[in-house]
Amino acid sequence: MTIQKSVAPASLAAQAMGWIDPVTKAVVPPIHMASTYQRDEDNAYRSGRIYGRADNPTFDQAEATLAALEGGAGALVFSSGMSAATACFLSLAPGDHVVAPKVMYWSLRNWLGGFATSWGLRIQFVDADRTDAIAAAVKPGVTRLVWLETPANPTWSVTDIAAAAEIAHKAGALLAVDSTVATPVLTRPIEHGADIVMHSATKYLNGHSDIIAGALVGARDDEHWAKLRMIRAQLGSILGQTEAWLLMRGMRTLFPRVQWACRSAETLAQKFAGHPMVEQVLYPGLPSFAGHAIAKKQMSGGFGGMLSVRVKGGERLAIATAARVELWKRATSLGGVESLIEHRASIEGPGTPCPPDLLRLSVGVEDAGDLYADLDQALRRAHNE
Ligand code: PLP
Repeated sequence: MTIQKSVAPASLAAQAMGWIDPVTKAVVPPIHMASTYQRDEDNAYRSGRIYGRADNPTFDQAEATLAALEGGAGALVFSSGMSAATACFLSLAPGDHVVAPKVMYWSLRNWLGGFATSWGLRIQFVDADRTDAIAAAVKPGVTRLVWLETPANPTWSVTDIAAAAEIAHKAGALLAVDSTVATPVLTRPIEHGADIVMHSATKYLNGHSDIIAGALVGARDDEHWAKLRMIRAQLGSILGQTEAWLLMRGMRTLFPRVQWACRSAETLAQKFAGHPMVEQVLYPGLPSFAGHAIAKKQMSGGFGGMLSVRVKGGERLAIATAARVELWKRATSLGGVESLIEHRASIEGPGTPCPPDLLRLSVGVEDAGDLYADLDQALRRAHNE
């Protein structure tokens, strides 16, 4: 690594820490395909590499860059966001008490309510946008982990990370934050007291909708961090070499992509807030949004590229609107360069807290005027046909 860590995070990301291949002087790293490494003649493993289920040299640059961007002691890339997140819960013991948000990524919420609960974790779901609700749920000496997602899918409710960290630490618990939507461009949870930051790297970190990947960043290189590394190696939930390379390639443009998406999302939120066919716009950047003051405190440079619109006329007209877009793509996921629209309740299924009239929007890097015009025509056609 040749770049100074003191340069701005955007520079660190653009140059992927300034890494130059020492032999060929290539500015882009090779992909290491090896699954195993030769032992030295004296039986040592001086290279530090033994077997490919533990790690791969292709991870090094992506992990070092992400750790630097988040201000952490280290990072681990995983085969998916879900494998990164579940590793955090599997690092606990059956019987441990966990506090998690009611509003969060639905698949992880289902896993917590299903597998994690039957494995023995005691999960208490709370309204995490209320610090007093977190404080009431956390049991000193009993709670081991407080899990947050902020802004949280799909209503973008915001949690005060610093306040939650204080509560968790006073009780002897760790604080982990799913920061997939904020990205290190907008929020660095470790600076607010988080112990672990989790990303679905499938989303903004990669940014091109062409890999599934996850990552954890640890505030400290301690015993718990070693346990997370061991869980990844034992379960084999490592990232493929090509995916690690693509993740690093995508992370180089993280800052301009996220900054562009934030500007467009803010413009769209403001314009749709006054639209005759829209009931409500959910976006942390709107002064009318419940969590706006906290978002302002812990997000800098923008409020993210994700927003939701609640369509007047309910579920039928929301689905009809999504059916009539031409530029937006009807797909799940988020954080890619192409803008996505999704009737969120349809994918979350029965029992979802997601309002049935909600369309989730992931704003990409197209022209914001084009995005507005397309969704505006879709809303009008859905209402008038
Ligand atoms: N966390 C958030 C906020 C997500 O949006 C997602 C995926 O949609 C995940 C976690 C899970 O990540 P992955 O799909 O990479 O397993």
